Amino acid sequence: MTPGTLAPATGPSFDLGEDQLAVREMVREFAESEIRPIAAAIDESHEFPMETTRKMAGLGLLGMFVPEEYGGAGMDYLSYVIAVEELSRVCATHGVIASVNNSLVCYPLLTYGNEEQKREYLVPIAKGEKLGCYCLTEPNAGSNAANQQTTAVEDGDAFVLNGTKVFITTAGPADVLILYAATDRSKGPKGITAFIVDADTPGVNKGKKEKKLGIRASDTREIALVNARVPKANVLGERDKGYTVALATLGGGRIGIAAQALGIAQASLEAAVRYAGERVQFDRIIGEFDAIREMLANAAIEVETARLLVYQSAWLRDRGRPHTKEASLAKWHAAEAASKCANWAIQVHGGYGYMAEYLVERYLRDAKICEIYEGTTEVQKMVVAAQVLKERALAG
Ligand SMILES: Cc1cc2nc3c(=O)[nH]c(=O)nc-3n(C[C@H](O)[C@H](O)[C@H](O)COP(=O)(O)OP(=O)(O)OC[C@H]3O[C@@H](n4cnc5c(N)ncnc54)[C@H](O)[C@@H]3O)c2cc1C
Repeated sequence: MTPGTLAPATGPSFDLGEDQLAVREMVREFAESEIRPIAAAIDESHEFPMETTRKMAGLGLLGMFVPEEYGGAGMDYLSYVIAVEELSRVCATHGVIASVNNSLVCYPLLTYGNEEQKREYLVPIAKGEKLGCYCLTEPNAGSNAANQQTTAVEDGDAFVLNGTKVFITTAGPADVLILYAATDRSKGPKGITAFIVDADTPGVNKGKKEKKLGIRASDTREIALVNARVPKANVLGERDKGYTVALATLGGGRIGIAAQALGIAQASLEAAVRYAGERVQFDRIIGEFDAIREMLANAAIEVETARLLVYQSAWLRDRGRPHTKEASLAKWHAAEAASKCANWAIQVHGGYGYMAEYLVERYLRDAKICEIYEGTTEVQKMVVAAQVLKERALAG
């Protein structure tokens, strides 16, 4: 080989495919033109953005990796992740609406639903004609989600459900609930069953909309079940195998939340860079000061490493390869990156950063939730530690 020439690339490629680039362009254009004008207003009003959610549905963003025959866009997981990143770069509320419908509702219906359930529920949800929500958390079942106290008791051709779910995203507008309940409490995680529940079932009572620190326009509520009769035909997957459904669903869901965090981190970096290039103090733009440059450099490495981890976990998932550790690493790191970058963005803005008008304070409020839902950072670390210990044991 002539000195100075490079061998043909045979290693991993970091280039996105044409479809993925097209998704990025399409979602960015949509987010900039349709969502940016309302993002600050819905943060202030806490109003669920139904009109833009319908537009997301029209663009196929609510059932992205669902095959076309089931009403979805038939794209890969990486495309989905890029879409959530781009939505969240402009408005994290829209990011979580898309993430929940795709990861937490379409995925379990697609993977565990029978043909009839797919036709009845997956098709309209993937098209966004109906919205879904995911009901796992309870007052005493948070990080320890196996501690389900909602009960499902067999009664003829139905199960009768009683209990309370809390912090459910998209609960208000949801038409369909993917809901977990204990069919046999004595068996712990091996006695949990997943159900598809129509939201208008008598005994399904939605609480008032919660007021939150961030992602304020997303609709978070408690859902109480009082003798709600759910047909046996609506068991999702096998009876008593619901905890597997819940965990497998969260395995992909946390990549979606990692993408949401990545979008917020990216938005924070962009805002900080923009302001650092405009603001003048001591007759110089503040971007010339080392202290400011250090914050920008720190934000840049957080964003880039988060993106590598997030895309890697989606790439592995697309190839059906193990990605439990990688998804948790991505979620943990991207969530912290979002909080750090938003915090630096405020610092770069000085007092203006503290004012709602400059947006970066919203980024900090929105970032925090990524460290909490779909498994807190502490839970992600537990998953990563268990995986590395397993790898070590397998290696002998
Ligand atoms: C805005 C919002 C939206 C949500 N959306 C949904 C939804 O759509 N569907 C749904 O089912 N749930 C949803 N959740 C619930 C969310 O997933 C839980 O809040 C989260 O899993 C944590 O559970 P918890 O709040 O009960 O906290 P806890 O589990 O009580 O945790 C409290 C603290 O203890 C730590 N901790 C707990 N156990 C351990 C341990 N073993 N080792 C070390 N530290 C530990 C936690 O990390 C945390 O810091 C949502 C929550 C919020 C805030």
